Amino acid sequence: MPEGSTLTRGGKAYEFLQFHFHAPSEHLVEGKTFPLEVHFVHRDRESGALGVLGVFLTPGAKNETFASLAAVFPTETGVKASVKDVDANGLLPASLDYWSYEGSLTTPPCSEIVDWMVAREPLQVDAADISRFTALYPMNARPVLAPNRRFILTTS
Ligand SMILES: [Zn+2]
Repeated sequence: MPEGSTLTRGGKAYEFLQFHFHAPSEHLVEGKTFPLEVHFVHRDRESGALGVLGVFLTPGAKNETFASLAAVFPTETGVKASVKDVDANGLLPASLDYWSYEGSLTTPPCSEIVDWMVAREPLQVDAADISRFTALYPMNARPVLAPNRRFILTTS
C-alpha cells in the first residue's frame, strides 16, 4: 500500500500499515460470527500504539474492491500474488459508526497495545469471493475472549 494513508480519531492520527483478513471474524456481534473480517492496521506515530479498524464481510452484493483481490488469490499454498492500486476505502461500509475498546493483537505475542475499532455495519461482498478466501484459509481467527473488565464503547 502507498505510504501516507491515515486514520484520524479524536485528536489521534494513526499511520496506515497494512490490512489482512480473518476467517471467520474475530469479533462476535450478539454471539454471532461473520464469514470474514478485514483488519486495517495503523500505528500512532507518537505513542506507538496500534489502532486497528475491523470490518465484517458478509455475503451479499458484489464488492468491486474485494472482488479485485479475490480474483488474484493464489490457488496453491506458498504462491505469492501481487496487486496494484488497491483503494482500501473500497472495503469500508457506508456508515463508519463503530464499537471501540482497548485490546490486544490477535496473533502472538498478543500484546495489549491495540485501540480496537469495529465498524457496526458489515460490508457486503460476493459469497463466491468469500469462498476464494476460505478455500485458502478456512480458519485463521483467534478464538474469542471474554471481555473481562474492558468497556466496549459505541459511537451514537
Ligand atoms: Zn487481524
